[in-house]
Amino acid sequence: MANSVAERSLSHNSSSSLRKRLLVDEWVVIAPDRAARPRQLELSPSSSDDFCPFCPDNAQVTPPTIETWDSPVFPDAPWGVRAVANKFPALRVEPELSTEPDGLYESISGVGAHEVLIEAPEHHTRWRALPAEHLAIVLGAWQDRMADLRRDKRLRSVLAFKNHGARAGATLGHIHSQLIGLPLVPTRLRRELDGARDYFQNTGLCAICEMIARERSTGDRLILENEAAVAIAPFGSRTAFETWILPRSHRGDYLSSPRSELLSIAEITTTVLDLWRRALGEVAYNLILHCLPFDLLGEPYYHWHLEMLPRTGQVAGFEWGSNMYINATPSEVAARHLRKLADHSA
Ligand SMILES: [Zn+2]
Ligand SMILES: [Zn+2]
Ligand SMILES: [Zn+2]
Repeated sequence: MANSVAERSLSHNSSSSLRKRLLVDEWVVIAPDRAARPRQLELSPSSSDDFCPFCPDNAQVTPPTIETWDSPVFPDAPWGVRAVANKFPALRVEPELSTEPDGLYESISGVGAHEVLIEAPEHHTRWRALPAEHLAIVLGAWQDRMADLRRDKRLRSVLAFKNHGARAGATLGHIHSQLIGLPLVPTRLRRELDGARDYFQNTGLCAICEMIARERSTGDRLILENEAAVAIAPFGSRTAFETWILPRSHRGDYLSSPRSELLSIAEITTTVLDLWRRALGEVAYNLILHCLPFDLLGEPYYHWHLEMLPRTGQVAGFEWGSNMYINATPSEVAARHLRKLADHSA
């Protein structure tokens, strides 16, 4: 059961806004409400005694449920997966979208959606420990929430992402991911879309399909594959062990992927996370879904994918100053290491 987007929005007064940075085509979310959120993980990294607002028994303290999904993996729980509005949202859906030019500056008043997906009723589980069957329900829940947000004509894109571990920005220990709907296409996604469009115009081909074919034929950066998905250490990895999970079928719209494909994606993702654990120990990571934004649906040139980045290093002065990353582990070395670990367990 889904509450309407408008219903969710009217209960709040927003003070958030999007501000465009001077001289560059990049936006910053100014979100004063975020300052008030709890910092459970910083206080106690593995706390089990701390009060957790995401555990099923404490459902009354989280914002109202937007939607729930059942899972055969948790037959006795009130829900398998639960979407709620973020209690400390970076953005909120407001009745009116307003762009505010101010001489030098440009901003958009706080228009956006910020939802939390509580990925399992069990507090201490994690993606690599979940059966692929359940993780496929989580990936399907992303699709369902995106389908709902897509109906809001004020929004142009949704970023689904996961912060695992304090070092990756997670503030609560209970397994969860987030969706942020935006009235624009964020810079990183837009640059990738532009690059894919240019490649397609020049060659008639999808660059990501080409990448999959190339990596499968040489094998140097291929980590794993199954019938519907591949895991690759990208040529230009930004961090040690950066991994991309790609569906082998060409689809730009994440919502068009059938459940069988999500299951293959889930299987390969949990395996990669397990290989990461064996290579790196318990590592914090970020996982991001890149797919076509709403007003480009139907464009032939893009191919949705998951980008996974272990947070082994810090983003520091050089990265802030240049938007370039220093990575001491070439992707071929990372892929070979993970392949060896996979062979040992086979
Ligand atoms: Zn919990
Ligand atoms: Zn493709
Ligand atoms: Zn991408």
